[in-house]
Amino acid sequence: MNNRELIARHQASLIGNYGKLPAVLVRGRGSLLFDADGKEFVDFFAGFGGTILGHAHPALVEAVTQQAQTLWAVGNQFYNEPAIRLAEQLKAKAFDGRAFFCHSGAEANEAAIKLARISAGPERYKIISMLRGFHGRTLGALSATPTPEYQRGFGPMMTGFSAVPYNDLPALMAAMDDQTAGVLVEPIQGEGGVHTPDPEFLPGVRKLCDQRKVALIFDEVWTGVGRTGRYFGHQHYGVTPDIMSMGKALGGGLPVGGILAKPAFAEFFQPGTHGCTLGGNPICAATAARIFEVLEKEKLCAQATANGAWLTDAIAALKSSKIKEIRGKGLFIGLELNLADAGKLVPMALERGLVLNVTHKNVVRICPAVNIPRPLLERGLEIFTQVLAAL
Ligand code: PLP
Repeated sequence: MNNRELIARHQASLIGNYGKLPAVLVRGRGSLLFDADGKEFVDFFAGFGGTILGHAHPALVEAVTQQAQTLWAVGNQFYNEPAIRLAEQLKAKAFDGRAFFCHSGAEANEAAIKLARISAGPERYKIISMLRGFHGRTLGALSATPTPEYQRGFGPMMTGFSAVPYNDLPALMAAMDDQTAGVLVEPIQGEGGVHTPDPEFLPGVRKLCDQRKVALIFDEVWTGVGRTGRYFGHQHYGVTPDIMSMGKALGGGLPVGGILAKPAFAEFFQPGTHGCTLGGNPICAATAARIFEVLEKEKLCAQATANGAWLTDAIAALKSSKIKEIRGKGLFIGLELNLADAGKLVPMALERGLVLNVTHKNVVRICPAVNIPRPLLERGLEIFTQVLAAL
């Protein structure tokens, strides 16, 4: 079946909650994608950051296949070895915490918020997040996502949530009170337009949380698992959170979310307090653990840093008057354009064989798989250059 026929079937059968591009992707290899009409695309977006190692990486195919032939899902009343392996990878690559696994970034943030609340005791329940932040679509995570267009129609939001401007320590200090349980912040804001923190911001947030004995939660759903050139985004800033939430790249394209919490917080999740039926299931966990092995073995954090710098320099060298600012770290790059709405760039790029994304109306987000080969970066850049000129 071709694109047109499949799109008609989709429209007759699925809820229309996603804006769609006119391609049905049927195959992927590394950072190349192919649609039902046989057209080939360079992938500069990695499925909202999920396919951190591209499609069909042999080591991940092996991990899935071996595990699928061995043991699929066990109830969480049993121990399972792949989940142990994944948690050990997180401890080794991030900090000495204890892990909990679920399926998505939103669910990871729900767990983080619940852990911050239960560990703070019954008097303290407030969560402060950042304006422009994004934490997911479930009602707790949405309550911490203060952008009206995401919340509209779903109110009322949960009580106890407020937001302050990112990079504004005095505003955060003013918002904290005796009922504050947690501060939730993305080390680099993703959906909000790839905004990096001022150097003193995250250390300052850490200090305020320490002074008030408030849980510091870093949402690393976008910035985790090598995306920014370190295993986790907070490692650029010398600050460790109390609780870290993860999703997207954690499963490399499989639905894996989770938190890593310092032991003093983790101990508040006693049996019966929180759970997720399929969280940490052996197939997902074995694959996720293998991702960290590949990142390490293939030195992909360093490669993301080098390729991110190369691409950023190449884009800057275009000296396009349409580009207002280039932001980001590693292969998490945001190009703010001098346009009110840059949305049409996405179908224009697709037409020419490049998958791009625009967020916050005028920020082009470039975040390919961290193992994308340089020739594909060059090909994507060539198409991007043409599209920018034609815009
Ligand atoms: N947190 C951040 C920083 C995100 O960017 C997202 C999704 O884009 C989420 C959480 C929600 O993740 P999911 O869509 O897997 O629920």
